[in-house]
Amino acid sequence: MWDFETDADYQAQLDWADAFVRDEVEPLDLIWPHLQFTPLTETRRKVVDPLKQQVREKGLWATHLGPDLGGQGYGQLKLALLNEVIGRSQWAPIVFGCQAPDTGNAEIIAHYGTPEQKERYLRPLLDGELFSSYSMTEPQGGADPTQFKTSAVRDGDDWVINGWKYFSSNANTAAFLIVMVVTNPDVSAYQGMSMFLLPTDTPGVNIVRNVGLYGERENEGSHALIHYDNVRVPHSALLGGEGQAFVIAQTRLGGGRIHHAMRTIGLAQKAIDMMCERVLSRETAGSLLSDKQTVQSYIADSYAQLKQFRLMVLHTAWEIDKYNDYKRVRKDIAAVKVVMPTVLHDIAWRAMQVHGALGVTNEMPFLGMVTGAAVMGLADGPTEVHKTTVAKQVLRGYRASDDLWPSEWLPRKRDAARERFAEYLELEAGSQ
Ligand SMILES: Cc1cc2nc3c(=O)[nH]c(=O)nc-3n(C[C@H](O)[C@H](O)[C@H](O)COP(=O)(O)OP(=O)(O)OC[C@H]3O[C@@H](n4cnc5c(N)ncnc54)[C@H](O)[C@@H]3O)c2cc1C
Repeated sequence: MWDFETDADYQAQLDWADAFVRDEVEPLDLIWPHLQFTPLTETRRKVVDPLKQQVREKGLWATHLGPDLGGQGYGQLKLALLNEVIGRSQWAPIVFGCQAPDTGNAEIIAHYGTPEQKERYLRPLLDGELFSSYSMTEPQGGADPTQFKTSAVRDGDDWVINGWKYFSSNANTAAFLIVMVVTNPDVSAYQGMSMFLLPTDTPGVNIVRNVGLYGERENEGSHALIHYDNVRVPHSALLGGEGQAFVIAQTRLGGGRIHHAMRTIGLAQKAIDMMCERVLSRETAGSLLSDKQTVQSYIADSYAQLKQFRLMVLHTAWEIDKYNDYKRVRKDIAAVKVVMPTVLHDIAWRAMQVHGALGVTNEMPFLGMVTGAAVMGLADGPTEVHKTTVAKQVLRGYRASDDLWPSEWLPRKRDAARERFAEYLELEAGSQ
């Protein structure tokens, strides 16, 4: 049964969330930009904690988690609908307890962590009291895990980690790190890497630089270059089994990628809203911008592009809930990841263009969105790599033609059809 309707009770919650984000949360983006991953000061706590409390009372806190972990167990589809609302604002994911990269990190600790690890790291993470960082990419290569060199070597009951990690988002404010390292260089990277959980203040964890994205001030970035210098951790810091890192990474990144896509819908819709308001407000060369055909084409293309993307994301979220297996939905998650940067880029660019000079100033958010689109083509893996995944998965459903000619070659098909219906063709010929 196909059904594209949201049940009335949940729609009422979404409507509440929509007004709440616009009125109560978006102002935080303006007074405390880029501070959402910084532990709350006493002053900020006075503002943010009551907002989180309202979300909890509405039953919308960390909805994707099961009740045992403090959520509602709503699953990915309902999270997608909520994330469309949340995607408008930088602070909203924090206020609703579903911010990346913490959601993905929480997911793998919930899945693979020991009871002690869950108590120490997962509980406070889910309560929104601390932040986490995922430390996988290395300076010499991110897209290809076989390039990773950072290693952990067993020493008695401990492991000793050495190497460099790059672009570990939020490491400068995170309470703990999840680091992916080589533990057995003699087997393939897919079996020879492991993950460790460790507090960020463990001796030997040196944050050398906090790299900023374009437009951020030097040294105010949040993507850490980390030198792990003889970092000693106990064996109990191992997450999942030895050699399990690659499998764990796939679990983590599957969820993370689709959550970004959900929020992108909200952000792109915000750009469309701004574009439409502008073209109805601005008159030039004798008519409103909304009367110009090229501008109408911008609106139609943006609407259609977002609608296609939204249906794709919602369907993929539905598949994740149905199969509860990221691997099975891998093709569609990768396809969503491929499409996402282009959708946001195109829509934000058109919205920027119709705003004229104002569009490219720091008084409007469009260039931030365009940069965001570029980031989406890299973070969680470059578009090219995801295209390869999609193509490989699609090709699995096909096999080569065992003939010189393709199986749809018309002369052969026509001959076969003629042979099959020869009797009737003869009758027809005879009656003419
Ligand atoms: C904002 C942001 C946040 C991030 N957060 C984190 C984080 O928290 N933790 C973390 O570990 N990492 C993080 N990353 C790193 C991210 O995962 C890597 O940037 C990504 O995997 C690409 O690795 P790379 O930058 O080393 O590029 P490379 O691997 O060097 O790739 C560079 C380019 O080469 C091309 N290319 C690469 N492989 C292929 C291929 N197979 N086929 C065709 N072309 C190819 C693509 O054009 C690609 O963009 C983040 C990145 C960004 C931008």
